Amino acid sequence: MKHAAAAGFTLIELMVVIVIIGILASIAIPKFAGVAESAKYAACRSNLRNIAEALELYRAENGEFPGAYQGHKWRELTYFSDYVQTEMRCPSTMAAYRFRISGRNYQYFWVRGWNGACKRNHGMYKRGVYVQ
Ligand SMILES: [Zn+2]
Repeated sequence: MKHAAAAGFTLIELMVVIVIIGILASIAIPKFAGVAESAKYAACRSNLRNIAEALELYRAENGEFPGAYQGHKWRELTYFSDYVQTEMRCPSTMAAYRFRISGRNYQYFWVRGWNGACKRNHGMYKRGVYVQ
């Protein structure tokens, strides 16, 4: 009889355990949320880099950036669809990407996700250089 009582938990012990689990969960859950967003940031930045490299490859093979000498306006990726996945999107905001060519000799390119949240949170390529 005495042994059976000693083997169980008191109500106080159970409550202490539940409180500790609650504290741990409140720490861990916001951290997991941050991990998901930073993974999306990394994926978006990787997309931007892939597009930038595709633009450089296009220039290496064709002598100029796609759409150069046709104005500096922002263009969809379909302009050089042989070099880049045109359906690529920002994993966080679902924004499509666009690019533009700039400079007096059309020597620079810009790339960004085509909405404000992506541009603000994930940065862009500006004159060929990534800026946050
Ligand atoms: Zn993005």
